[in-house]
Amino acid sequence: MSSDGHLAAIRVGPGSAGLRSVLRRLPRGGPEQRAVEAGEVDAVIDYGNANVIMFPAARRALRVAANRASAASRKVALEMPAANAVLAALPRRDYRRLLSDLEPVTLAFGDVLHEAGTLIRHVYFPVDCVVCLLTGTAGQRTVETGLVGYEGVIGVSLALGVDVSSARAEVQSAGTALRMSAAHFNNAFRRCLPLQRELYRFTNTKLAQARQAAACFASHPLEQRLACWLLMTSDRSRSQEIFLTQEYLASVMNVRRESVTFSAGSLRTRNLISCHRGTIRILDRAGLETVSCSCYQPIESLSAK
Ligand SMILES: [Zn+2]
Repeated sequence: MSSDGHLAAIRVGPGSAGLRSVLRRLPRGGPEQRAVEAGEVDAVIDYGNANVIMFPAARRALRVAANRASAASRKVALEMPAANAVLAALPRRDYRRLLSDLEPVTLAFGDVLHEAGTLIRHVYFPVDCVVCLLTGTAGQRTVETGLVGYEGVIGVSLALGVDVSSARAEVQSAGTALRMSAAHFNNAFRRCLPLQRELYRFTNTKLAQARQAAACFASHPLEQRLACWLLMTSDRSRSQEIFLTQEYLASVMNVRRESVTFSAGSLRTRNLISCHRGTIRILDRAGLETVSCSCYQPIESLSAK
């Protein structure tokens, strides 16, 4: 097998059965037989039976590669907990018990983790992605009702005994997360008291944020809300760059696109942000904080409550 993991194979016509039979049928002294004898062939592709017959050495090499990949995946998961605040807060012993049920996943912008009203199949612990919780009303567009990054969990309602999502969970900033099946999560939640404590604490924080967001929407001007939202998103993705379109921003702010363009333009002319091809970059964080309404709270201050 080549160093990059590609399989070297020869193709044989119909009527071949088994490796020995195929090898006997190869032309004596031909290039295929020479390649087999030199150990350059990993498998025989049997056209007739739509079958791939692997040489024993290639089978062993594949097994070793698969074991290595699995060990690497476990190692990645082991190094990630500090990157998710809920997992990082668990005693190391408890985290290690969860480890075999956690799987690192890469999430792209727009991926839907849960649809409102559907069964929660997985719980996600974001590492460096940000997920929007969107709620719709009959006949109306959806509105953002929460933002979750490395400080929290997606699918936390399972901890409250509810296995159906009340909101659409959509990836707003691409990145990685650790994922656990709902069945494994329910087992872990029952037996791990520190996990229960952290999830109740996170749920309480989300409730407080939802109340604050409702008050913010009703009371504060769009420019202040926008500054607040940009800071919150940047905190959760741990990046000064936010990838989104102004249509999307108008949707999460629940205003018309022209209003968002006007407010973003105002922040841009004061050199607080730059906007370019679907990317908003925070240039002056301290300045943006002075524009934001008082609803903005850094993540560290939330976890201290
Ligand atoms: Zn506000």
